[in-house]
Amino acid sequence: MCVFCEIGSGRAPAHVVFADEEFLGFLDVRPLFPGHVLVVPRTHYATLLDVPGEVLGPLTARVQRTAAGVQSAMAAQGTFVAMNNVVSQSVPHLHVHVVPRTKGDGLRGFFWPRTRYASDEEAGATATAIAAAIAAAVPPD
Ligand code: AMP
Repeated sequence: MCVFCEIGSGRAPAHVVFADEEFLGFLDVRPLFPGHVLVVPRTHYATLLDVPGEVLGPLTARVQRTAAGVQSAMAAQGTFVAMNNVVSQSVPHLHVHVVPRTKGDGLRGFFWPRTRYASDEEAGATATAIAAAIAAAVPPD
């Protein structure tokens, strides 16, 4: 059974920070910083691509409120909000990380080495390919 389904149904323990009919938020058991919260839908969707459109707005609203709460309660300057999908996703039940951040907090192991497009043409071709795929994408029901 999925560990986040277990938490959602109350069969596994968690430090819950909010819970409603469709979503809940709880402390990540191995936080980047204290106050690191995971927001999950009670329904099991594996990744972002599996989430029906009508769930996205309510999910984002919960994430927004959680970010406000985390920032305030942890006296942080801001938050980092993120979601791994498949790659680096260790729990295959969609979850949004809400992590308190403050300048100079020393978050390590999380830097994105940047690259460059070889040319403006390459960037244009990349944008065109993604635009076509977005136009063709069929959201889940
Ligand atoms: P990710 O690697 O993006 O899939 O994130 C999964 C997160 O779930 C990790 O940060 C884990 O520390 C966290 N996690 C795994 N099991 C539990 C659990 N039982 N309760 C709370 N957090 C968990």
